[in-house]
Amino acid sequence: MGVPLLDLPAQYRELQSEIDAAMHDVMSTAGFIGGPKVKALEEAIAAYCGTSHAVGCGNGTDALILILEAMGIGEGDEVITSPFTFFATAESISQVGATPVFADIERDTYNIDATLVEAAITERTKAIMPVHIFGQCADMDAINAIARKHGLKVIEDACQAIGATYRDKRAGALGDAAAFSFFPSKNLGGAGDGGILTTDDADLAARARKLGNHGTAKKYFHDALGHNSRLDALQAAILSVKLPHLDRWNEERRTAAAVYDELLADLPLTVPVRRAYGEPVYHLYIVRTPEAPRVMEALKAAGIGTAIYYPRSLHLQEVYADLGYALGSLPEAEAAESETFAIPCFPGITREQQEEVARVLREALS
Ligand SMILES: *Cc1c(COP(=O)(O)O)cnc(C)c1O
Repeated sequence: MGVPLLDLPAQYRELQSEIDAAMHDVMSTAGFIGGPKVKALEEAIAAYCGTSHAVGCGNGTDALILILEAMGIGEGDEVITSPFTFFATAESISQVGATPVFADIERDTYNIDATLVEAAITERTKAIMPVHIFGQCADMDAINAIARKHGLKVIEDACQAIGATYRDKRAGALGDAAAFSFFPSKNLGGAGDGGILTTDDADLAARARKLGNHGTAKKYFHDALGHNSRLDALQAAILSVKLPHLDRWNEERRTAAAVYDELLADLPLTVPVRRAYGEPVYHLYIVRTPEAPRVMEALKAAGIGTAIYYPRSLHLQEVYADLGYALGSLPEAEAAESETFAIPCFPGITREQQEEVARVLREALS
């Protein structure tokens, strides 16, 4: 019995009639850019995250870029972030002309280590960009305290963490602004690219909206250089059908994670650590062993989906050679690269599928 890493077609089958109707609605009115579907999704996401504003855009990377630009961050500025994340996190910082500065991660959560952030601050630092990696929030109280002390902005890369909580709040409402991605495999995924940013700052939201729409707030009058980065009405329509199911899907991921925690408890394998400060949403269920390459081979041979997130930390990427990080400079991120991998964990995964994954892991590790 093979087990996929993720089962996206199942998500469509579950909601097919509603999704098809929502798409048909957009097709028959031909209102493809902006309009009521996008506005409705923005309002629903803002309400869900507990922020006053949400602004749709082309993808999660653009959401980060629009936030940075709306904050006036660019050439000569530095932004402190995690080296253990998808490339887009640091790419957004570089794309606005600023420089990413990497602080190492916590060994157990893989999130940026807040105790290392202060040492990375210089007079050029403008913001901290924590990533809620694999769906668990970074330690936002500690990060916000450092930011307040040094007058820095906090930008959440919440692309993997929609619905995750930190104390009594949700990801997206934990800093000055946050970016979400609707990439199909994210916990709330569209039928293509899409993204949204959230904030309580009305001016920031208005600036980001303008920058994502060619620098115009009034059609054909431009007072800034912007981008063409808007959320399609088709995506908004599909996402609005899916959003009411997100909490249940996230709960199913948490249940699946608890089942693995139990099935794998006696194996020489580190399972994800959950901090007491909030509920993660298990975008990925990451396990750790020095035997990672061999164990992954066994999983693949048994038809079980597995992948490395991420095989190369960002400070060691070729494109960042000029930043001058030596091998060994961020040891926890570098150790995680070669010892961690994801196993199937998605809404609807069955106990039998999980037992099969556990059986293959047990065999490979014994
Ligand atoms: C997916 C992702 C992004 C980028 O989102 P896109 O919609 O693909 O542009 C950024 N950061 C993290 C952590 C992500 O997982």
